Amino acid sequence: MQKKTTRAANTGSHQINAHSIKKQLNPLDLYRHELPTAKLKKHGWNDGGLCPFHADNHAGSFHVNVVTGAYKCFACGAAGSDVIAFTMALYGLKFVEALEQLANDWGLV
Ligand SMILES: [Zn+2]
Repeated sequence: MQKKTTRAANTGSHQINAHSIKKQLNPLDLYRHELPTAKLKKHGWNDGGLCPFHADNHAGSFHVNVVTGAYKCFACGAAGSDVIAFTMALYGLKFVEALEQLANDWGLV
């Protein structure tokens, strides 16, 4: 009798990996794309403009860190530590799906 093989560990020739995505994708580029109305500067925490996670009608609550990719909203409590967490929350994706989307959108390997 043969043991049922698991396919989970064998999903393709190149594994998308969170570390390489974070290394290649500058959070500033992602947030400039996702938050087109925010006036982001090149360092540290920035005013992210209107929060994409609640019905925000006045800027000032939502902040993003363009160096680490962390984000936090002081109005609705949405928060995460990197661009992968942001992508998961914004598009309702699982971790692996967020990695795939980022890799595809930004041409990462
Ligand atoms: Zn919010």
